[in-house]
Amino acid sequence: MKKCSFCGQLVDDSKLTTIDGEFICSACLEKLSKKVNFKLPAPQDIKKYLDQYIIGQDKAKKVLSVAIYNHFKRVNHNLKANKNSDIEIEKSNILFIGPSGSGKTLMAQTIAKFIKVPFAITDATTLTEAGYVGDDVENILARLILEAKDEIALAQMGIIYIDEIDKITRKSENPSITRDVGGEGVQQALLKIIEGTVANVPQGSLRKHPYQEFSPINTKNILFIVGGSFSGLEKIISQRLNKKVIGFHSESNDLGSEAELMNQVESHDLIKFGLIPELVGRIPIRVAFEELTEEQLVDILIKPKNAIIKQYQKLFEIDNIKLDISEEALLSIAKKAKDKKMGARGLRSVVEDLLLDIMFKVPSMKNVQKVILTEDFVNGKEDAVIMRKQRA
Ligand code: ADP
Repeated sequence: MKKCSFCGQLVDDSKLTTIDGEFICSACLEKLSKKVNFKLPAPQDIKKYLDQYIIGQDKAKKVLSVAIYNHFKRVNHNLKANKNSDIEIEKSNILFIGPSGSGKTLMAQTIAKFIKVPFAITDATTLTEAGYVGDDVENILARLILEAKDEIALAQMGIIYIDEIDKITRKSENPSITRDVGGEGVQQALLKIIEGTVANVPQGSLRKHPYQEFSPINTKNILFIVGGSFSGLEKIISQRLNKKVIGFHSESNDLGSEAELMNQVESHDLIKFGLIPELVGRIPIRVAFEELTEEQLVDILIKPKNAIIKQYQKLFEIDNIKLDISEEALLSIAKKAKDKKMGARGLRSVVEDLLLDIMFKVPSMKNVQKVILTEDFVNGKEDAVIMRKQRA
């Protein structure tokens, strides 16, 4: 008889499976298998799914599809194997390098939705070492457990996305900070959970609980995706490559796009940037995201399953009004968003601003059939065209 690490019950040895040295009873195993998409599609199918939601970023999609496929093949293998496999395939965490609003978070979120595992996002800059004011690193795990509806076994296979990892480098850029609270210490704390540990997470730390209990959670199989814009890293890489960066955003230089350069990143570049070597070693898969072009921003407005324009068209449709936007108008919206330098993040606020007046006025108007947005409207040169039904 042994104790199932998932439900804690004593179970006969014949009904136990070993996962990473821990025991799971057949009931828990069955429960788990139902929750997770173990019939993993091939990398090409994973990419096809990502294509439905994410515009561009082909290289990142490919890298992620393969990484996810391998990661869950490993988890799956361990779940089904009756004893520990003699070959331990180590998990490969992933680093996303790319400008703000290029789809890094969306990519992590979409993949988690696809494979139906719990997903939690956190921002590295809000994390502190235990004992300091701020979020303890363990809180990310608490959030993941919450997402898994308190099923620890499920949480143990989840994905955690840590944004702004480039903002917790060793050398604090702010000279007024005498103690490097946000830097190396946080990296050390992150390292512990990324490399795999059994953390004791306060139960209900995100909810009010009259008394606190702790749940142990093993982070060994949790996939960590960390992301950041890493501005300045391009200089480190190009110096190593012994090439000059000629005006970084200029179109014609021998280094290709920023992403192409970033894709040549190596461990020591990241260490030079300020990440600790142990952490760098735990994040072996690295991929750069491209800065989105105006055309891609237009595509983001209209193409993804839940594209922004589709959402607004739906809102208008509920009032029986058709919302038409010309192609030139879409491009002007993309240009405005591009000027904000927030990538696709700027799109929604541009559209929201444009439509505010119309959304305020139109519900009180009678017989409105169609609203047409033109390029001149987007550029503030004319009002939106509002068409009304002809009354018989
Ligand atoms: P990042 O994490 O790179 O800063 P996000 O993934 O949070 O950026 O992007 C912000 C929002 O912009 C997303 O919710 C999504 O609506 C949109 N977006 C960004 N990049 C893309 C993309 N490549 N395809 C589709 N939508 C995108």
